[in-house]
Amino acid sequence: MLRLGYYLTKYGRAGGAVRLRCLSSISPNSTKIPESVCIIGSGPSGFYTLKYLLSHPNAPKKVDIVDSSRVPFGLIRTGVAPDHGDVKNAQSEFTQIIEGDNASTDVRFLGGVAIGEGEKVKLSDVEGHYDAVVLCHGASLSNELDLPAYKPDGSKVQSPPVVRVRDAVEWYNAASWAEEPGFREAVVRRGGEGLNITVIGGGNVSLDLARVFAKGRRGILRDSEVRDEEIEEMAGWGVGTIGLYNRRGAYQTAFTTKEFRDIYKMAKAGNTALRIDVEDIERSSNKESLEEMEGNRPMTRLIKLIKQVAEDDEVKEGEGAQISVRYLRSPSEIHTDEEGNMKSVRFELQELSGEKGAQRAVGTGVFEDVETDVLVSSMGYKASPLDERLPFEGGRYKHERGHVDGKVFSAGWCKRGPKGIVGTNIADARETVGRIYEGTETRGQVGGADFVEFLEKKGVEYSTWEGWQRVDEIERDEKRLREGQTRNKIKDEEKIRRIAMGR
Ligand SMILES: Cc1cc2nc3c(=O)[nH]c(=O)nc-3n(C[C@H](O)[C@H](O)[C@H](O)COP(=O)(O)OP(=O)(O)OC[C@H]3O[C@@H](n4cnc5c(N)ncnc54)[C@H](O)[C@@H]3O)c2cc1C
Repeated sequence: MLRLGYYLTKYGRAGGAVRLRCLSSISPNSTKIPESVCIIGSGPSGFYTLKYLLSHPNAPKKVDIVDSSRVPFGLIRTGVAPDHGDVKNAQSEFTQIIEGDNASTDVRFLGGVAIGEGEKVKLSDVEGHYDAVVLCHGASLSNELDLPAYKPDGSKVQSPPVVRVRDAVEWYNAASWAEEPGFREAVVRRGGEGLNITVIGGGNVSLDLARVFAKGRRGILRDSEVRDEEIEEMAGWGVGTIGLYNRRGAYQTAFTTKEFRDIYKMAKAGNTALRIDVEDIERSSNKESLEEMEGNRPMTRLIKLIKQVAEDDEVKEGEGAQISVRYLRSPSEIHTDEEGNMKSVRFELQELSGEKGAQRAVGTGVFEDVETDVLVSSMGYKASPLDERLPFEGGRYKHERGHVDGKVFSAGWCKRGPKGIVGTNIADARETVGRIYEGTETRGQVGGADFVEFLEKKGVEYSTWEGWQRVDEIERDEKRLREGQTRNKIKDEEKIRRIAMGR
């Protein structure tokens, strides 16, 4: 069991040291102590919430962690890039939390249990069985790119051929629900050498995608989690260009220095080309942007690196994929062939307008067309509420230090929006658990039957932690692994179900 106290995590360090204080203790006689808690979602925020509940001096007697998937860990498994082994390692930390010496608490993982309005199990059903419920279900929807698309004769295309970055990320992460048709189908349909990928949005997820595909092109993913099947496919795609497009300027860049340095290193080693246009940086460098940067050390460091890349002719000529980062360009329309297949994207050049800290990109009336075979929308994730009655605004729950309504609390991306690294969820979950112990209707009405009995009556086929352990054991079986690979995922949903259910 991981001990609370002065515990520093590697993710905390990455984003600035996080020192954790002991949570204040509440008298065991207090009516505010929750005896049973349900955590909905087993991603980082769910596991950190579990950690702080278990290490509280008045830990609950029962904590259930429920997930719609039979495999735990949320985006650690299906979002984080497969070549980021250090981040994927958070799974071991979470495993220690649930498998540790939790003597005073009965902890259960219930997989395959989706909660929500269209599901067999509603949030109100969960509320009826616990003193407190913590929503940790993340942000699984995508912000859509809504662009008109036209055929050569000027007629409109009904379903513009845009794919979501989420589909691409889930595909190379072998998520059992990775959508097909989706990203992969768009690539396969085009086929052949010189595939041009245009990505709208320039955050870390877009950089992940560019790096993984560039590595795929060069066949250097063998020491990652990517399965042989996907490695072989990527090597055969013949990725030519990967353009990452930002509406605003270089000083408003959304990716972080560490991620960008990884790609720069790849380019330095000759495994990809990396280009940033000096002119884009000059157009980005208005007075307001320079003022925005003052005193902002991370941004100052990042801009320095961006300029270094822009001026480094050596990395412009690397082998393999040709990655470019473009600024001050906003997509305005899509052009397809007669069949509605992607041909090009029209961008309108932008300029910045407005005061320091509130600059907007406005169109200049100048357009350019970019040849594109696959258009990927990477404009961020968003959450949706599990129950319409809950206060929800701007893609996340409205809350007061994690308290949403009645006995319902939240942590993670559905609480603070889809931003921050894995480590950001530590302080976030700690705040929510602290708030649970301050009370506010945490004890409400609790039905007599156990939640598992309720699931059985409803005919919900739930799986357990032991079920996941069986899947985990197979995925990490050395006989299935190539050298340097730590996990060979099972992708088939039905197979996972059978193994998890012990059939
Ligand atoms: C593509 C991508 C790459 C990333 N890479 C990094 C990285 O390299 N380093 C880093 O530090 N951070 C990275 N992050 C950020 C990190 O993944 C998040 O900070 C973190 O996963 C958020 O945790 P969460 O628990 O709020 O949500 P999630 O991780 O999304 O977990 C939510 C869980 O809830 C479950 N769930 C959803 N709906 C329901 C429902 N209705 N009923 C029951 N269960 C449900 C899901 O199955 C899931 O298991 C990345 C994020 C993305 C999207």
